[in-house]
Amino acid sequence: MDRDSLHAILAGLDAPAFRVGQLWRWLYVRGATSFDQMTDLGKPLRAALADRFALDRPAVARQQNSVDGTRKWLLRFTDGQAAESVFIPEEDRGTLCISSQVGCTLTCRFCHTGTQRLVRNLDPAETVGQVLLARDALDDWQRSDDRRQLTNIVLMGMGEPLYNFDNVSQAVRILMDGDGIAISRRRITLSTAGVVPMIRRCGAELGVNLAISLHAVTDDLRDRIVPINRKYPIAELLDACRDYPGVNNARRITFEYVMLRDVNDTPADARELVRLLQGIPAKLNLIPFNAWPGAPFECSTDAAIDRFADIVMRAGYASPIRTPRGRDILAACGQLKSDSQRPRAARPAPATAA
Ligand code: SAH
Repeated sequence: MDRDSLHAILAGLDAPAFRVGQLWRWLYVRGATSFDQMTDLGKPLRAALADRFALDRPAVARQQNSVDGTRKWLLRFTDGQAAESVFIPEEDRGTLCISSQVGCTLTCRFCHTGTQRLVRNLDPAETVGQVLLARDALDDWQRSDDRRQLTNIVLMGMGEPLYNFDNVSQAVRILMDGDGIAISRRRITLSTAGVVPMIRRCGAELGVNLAISLHAVTDDLRDRIVPINRKYPIAELLDACRDYPGVNNARRITFEYVMLRDVNDTPADARELVRLLQGIPAKLNLIPFNAWPGAPFECSTDAAIDRFADIVMRAGYASPIRTPRGRDILAACGQLKSDSQRPRAARPAPATAA
């Protein structure tokens, strides 16, 4: 819930407005998981809240740890649907990659999530819940700001965040609130395959960093591998990037480019990429294709990736190759999938009370 909703609820319970701040800190600074912990709230108010609301985290259906320190959680929500989040520790920061939908509508050909149909949007509680759960698991609530493991958030998990903008926007505003979880908009990146009409709002209303899943330099190829391109072709997408509110050389747009063997990885592709991005304050992430069972592509050869990287580096893009993380647990870019297409009956039935 955001502050406005908490205000309305507390007013309905005849509690004074300053209780909102107290409740907010319990929820988002201390990570309370029960109203009983909120000892400065008064027993009747705690009981009234506990009657009406739950502070549950998403349930962890499975947790996997990669040899490189990456951690992946399969989270099960109250209706049985599931989504994944991934924590990627690095030397100077730790990034949590969160999902915005169960499944996805986009059907990008190289993406594992794209083989799973869209089941539903995640709501703000489920989106923020992924961050609360990660803070629990990383023991991050106890730490001071400068010692936290989770410092950055990327909306790069399952789903297309700009097709679920209202929920994502509410969640991101909660995550950015300076008196709560307080992860600043500079440390949050939203990745989109290119929902052009929503890009401006994302910049104007949230001001987070933008990442664009480009992956091809011609409409002909992009139409085939990122089908949303048929609706919003490359030129329109790049115009929206040029106009992205707040974009400048200090705050660049990231362009993601998955390296697909013999599909989009020639020197000519690299030169065209450089040409297309001219005039846009841009960073480049060349992502070695991460394989998944049944994928119709292979990763470009090391030589092809080096050649490609060399051309874009000479054009001024620094360290463009992204090292895949968590491949061994299918936690890398494009490998997330939560089997939501499986009928419910295929799961073991929950134990019932005799
Ligand atoms: N729908 C949003 C959010 C997903 S972000 C978007 O498309 O941007 C996930 C990123 O991983 C995207 O850049 C996506 O194109 C990329 N990706 C998908 N499958 C991949 C794969 N198999 N290997 C490497 N990157 C992949």
